Amino acid sequence: MALIVQKFGGSSVADAVRVRNVAKIITDTYKAGNAVIAVVSAQGDTTDDLIDKAAELNPNPSKREMDVLLSAGEQMSASLMAMAIEQIGCPVVSLLGWQAGFQTSSGYGLARIRTIDTERMTRELDQKRIIIVAGFQGLCKYGDITTFGRGGSDTTAVAIAAVMHADKCQIFTDVDGVYTADPRKIKNAQKLSEITYDEMLELATLGAQVLNNRSVEMAKKYNVELEVLTSFQYGASPIDKMLLSEEQLAALTNTTTGRAGTIVKETVKMEKMLVRGVTKDNDAARISIVGVKDVPGVAFRVFSKLAAKNINVDIILQSVGHAGVQDISFTVSEANAAPVRALLENDFETVLVDTGVSKISVVGAGMETHPGTAAKMFEALYSEDINIQMIATSEIKISVLIDQADADKAVAAVHAAFFGKE
Ligand code: ADP
Ligand code: ASP
Ligand code: MG
Repeated sequence: MALIVQKFGGSSVADAVRVRNVAKIITDTYKAGNAVIAVVSAQGDTTDDLIDKAAELNPNPSKREMDVLLSAGEQMSASLMAMAIEQIGCPVVSLLGWQAGFQTSSGYGLARIRTIDTERMTRELDQKRIIIVAGFQGLCKYGDITTFGRGGSDTTAVAIAAVMHADKCQIFTDVDGVYTADPRKIKNAQKLSEITYDEMLELATLGAQVLNNRSVEMAKKYNVELEVLTSFQYGASPIDKMLLSEEQLAALTNTTTGRAGTIVKETVKMEKMLVRGVTKDNDAARISIVGVKDVPGVAFRVFSKLAAKNINVDIILQSVGHAGVQDISFTVSEANAAPVRALLENDFETVLVDTGVSKISVVGAGMETHPGTAAKMFEALYSEDINIQMIATSEIKISVLIDQADADKAVAAVHAAFFGKE
């Protein structure tokens, strides 16, 4: 008997029809002789709606209370899913994060998993019950509910797969795999059959929402192979029924999902594709300290101040000094723009902040051994008359900072350069 962990995101459980559809995926997996632990997110836009509700009452609520509020979205989903499964007639129990044994740091809103006590989950599986776990939450040492940050249910699923030594971890979502760009924005984006942890981690960190980056980091650490697939094409669609042969239809309905998704793992067959994906991240702000003295220790002064406040810095650019002065520019997340300005304003005369920027990246392990990737990317941007403000590279990625107004055009142009026009 295999143990399968399945995770269903917000759109997969958005309403009663979708919950019923997912309940069928879960129970079919169970009826095929597997033990199943399913992690669910809050329904549809519930988390955003709860955030809006909080804002109506308090523009600056405590993080502790936000966690109590937001965890309720997943609580609702888990109980509703369990009810739908009861209705199908399979044994099931829903567990909140703490009941499933998740102990976390006390970093409300962005808590880290410390340990998972597997006793309760093991007991429920021994009773042959399907377990539905409420995603992205746990309990900290003060006995408070914590949440893991946006998109954190992916991490709940990977953590359970790791600690319970699951045979499979399937992340069901509203697209049928990881693509070379957001398939909702780029029509000819190509589905990747496989991708390495490292590439996926870069894509996720640089803006591909399909997997949460922390979940990928954890999957790599504990060697949990992930499968990204859709919950929306379960079995045969009406179009499938018109187009496919009896045999093909039987194959489709016999597999868990109907279609192959993307596998995320340590190594993949080297494909011809140098670049595996193009991403956009609007959550960036550019800070420029203009006209500072060109003497040793200035960069140290700036960045040690930010480090002391735990503020992450991304791209850094220091201009060549002339006439005894230089400029230092760097990017931080948008939420950190105001705190950074406040931190530096007293020490430096001119601190400029621009939140209207976007980071466009290309990612691929193959580019390390193939020169010319950067030139191709820059040419694509030039052909659209898009100005590059900053550049950052690593072995497997190239990122550029551009005006946010150009972002979608830039993704389309760069994607077309590597994967052909739409
Ligand atoms: P869930 O609610 O299931 O967690 P998310 O909305 O978090 O789903 O992630 C799925 C979305 O990620 C897709 O609807 C798609 O628009 C977006 N996305 C962005 N980049 C990519 C990519 N490279 N491949 C696939 N999906 C992507
Ligand atoms: N419901 C949370 C969010 O919307 C967590 C998740 O969906 O993974 O971010
Ligand atoms: Mg998600």
